[in-house]
Amino acid sequence: MIVVEYSQIELDHCLNCHGVWFDAGELQLLLERMGITSSEMDADGLINAPVPKTREKKRKCPICSKIMKKANIGQQPIVMIDACTEGDGLWFDGGEVHALVSQLAKGKGSHQKIISFLKEAFKAEE
Ligand SMILES: [Zn+2]
Repeated sequence: MIVVEYSQIELDHCLNCHGVWFDAGELQLLLERMGITSSEMDADGLINAPVPKTREKKRKCPICSKIMKKANIGQQPIVMIDACTEGDGLWFDGGEVHALVSQLAKGKGSHQKIISFLKEAFKAEE
C-alpha cells in the first residue's frame, strides 16, 4: 500500500486492488474539511448498522486482521464498505470514496477540487 496525503490526512491506498483505507476518524476529518457533516459517517454507527446481504467477498482488517463487516452508506448509489469491528477504520473499494464524497458534496460547488482529486487518486478498477 502507498500513502496518499491530502490536506494533512494520510490515506493508505492499495495499488493492486485500488482500495483505500481510512484510519478511524479520518473519513470524518476529510468530510469536515469539505464542510460536510454527516452522522452516517460515524464509525460506531456503521459497526452497529444491520449487515447488508451481499456476495462481496469479506476482507480482513489491515490493522488487526479480523474479518471486517460490510456496511452500506450513502444513497444513490449506496456504497458498500468494510468496517473493522474493533474500530480500527474503514475500507473502500476502488471508486467508492469518490462515489460517496461526490454525492455528499452535491450542490456544494466549491468542492469540485477535492472531488476531482479523489476521483484521480482512487480510480475504480478498470
Ligand atoms: Zn481492525
